Amino acid sequence: MTTGKVTTGQVTTGQVNHGQMNIELTETERARILAKSALFDPPSATTADGRRDLVGLSREQLAAEMVAIGEKPFRAKQIWHWIYHQGETDFARMSTIAKPMQETLAEKFIVGRPVAAEVQTSIDETRKFLFRFRDGQEAETVYIPDRQEDRGAVCISSQVGCTLSCRFCHTGTQTLVRNLGPAEIVGQFMAARDSYGEWPSPHGETPRLLSTIVLMGMGEPLYNYANVAQAMRIVMDNEGIGLSRRRITLSTSGVVPMMDRVGEELGVNLAVSLHAVRDDLRDEIVPLNRKYPIKEVLAACRRYPGASNSRRITFEYIMLRGLNDSEADAHELVRLIAGMPAKVNLIPFNPWPGSAYEPSTPAQIDRFAKIVMDAGFSSPVRQPRGRDILAACGQLRTESQRNRA
Ligand code: SF4
Repeated sequence: MTTGKVTTGQVTTGQVNHGQMNIELTETERARILAKSALFDPPSATTADGRRDLVGLSREQLAAEMVAIGEKPFRAKQIWHWIYHQGETDFARMSTIAKPMQETLAEKFIVGRPVAAEVQTSIDETRKFLFRFRDGQEAETVYIPDRQEDRGAVCISSQVGCTLSCRFCHTGTQTLVRNLGPAEIVGQFMAARDSYGEWPSPHGETPRLLSTIVLMGMGEPLYNYANVAQAMRIVMDNEGIGLSRRRITLSTSGVVPMMDRVGEELGVNLAVSLHAVRDDLRDEIVPLNRKYPIKEVLAACRRYPGASNSRRITFEYIMLRGLNDSEADAHELVRLIAGMPAKVNLIPFNPWPGSAYEPSTPAQIDRFAKIVMDAGFSSPVRQPRGRDILAACGQLRTESQRNRA
């Protein structure tokens, strides 16, 4: 139940009086979230033989590593280019670096990648990667190619497992094992690119197969903000991967205090997993709602910096038969988001083994979509992709276990 800076009225076990809830968006609340997140930090990015992984370091950290081995800090710029523009992992092939230095680098460092322990390609060409990290933990990444054009989205995980237990989500049945570090987050994108041979980084308007990132895989990115932010800064750096912030969408279940921070510091697109228009129902299917109820989530969306008609907030809405898919729900949704630069992604529920819900009927989804569209909001129905390989929305899960006390 609610803690920290959340002030409520009378709260009885299992219930929150949302009418009296007043969340103070203070630095204290953010600090509490960041401190809790640090408890699940990834292990150090060093190999068993003591070499440091250079992937995931900020430019400043990379420069500091160069200074530590007696090199000039400008070397960092050169190496950055090799790692993030050329996609090179072997120091011996970094041809602008003299051989003795290549050897020193290879003694002290590696340019790492997560290991693709499993790769499955769906009949619709969606590709799911099970990536294994240095400590044996695993997370899934999905590449969803556009079927009309040479581009596509990479759906990246931010945690191994998840704390939030959204009821419709398979990942939510797996306890949080740990956060992923910057190297592991950027590494998913880089390894997916390796798989499609998309190096060096296409620049400017040159078409890219892996053209957008959606932080919608396993985990709640805003409960791993520091690592996610560092990874996204690396991805956006123009002298490397160079993906613009407009091509990155961070999806949250509504960690209100951190939503402001994302807008101010990263400026990426925001997607919010809304899924219900009443607090009693959202409390059940997105339990984080007990802490940050709909009203607070929507207020954070309204003040999200950079949202405009060309950069709308996306509301994700999973269609669960007989639960949240009535016409009355659609009208209430429209009322709640009125006046906001927003679009609504309707997601047919993708069942997974043991799931408790049924997908809405296509006819009901159409009726719902029409009400939202008639109110002036784009309301595309997301076509399920990769269902045959359990790669669709809410279906990701690994066997990774928490191995710490
Ligand atoms: S929907 Fe996202 S936040 Fe909710 S349990 Fe699944 S992975 Fe976690």
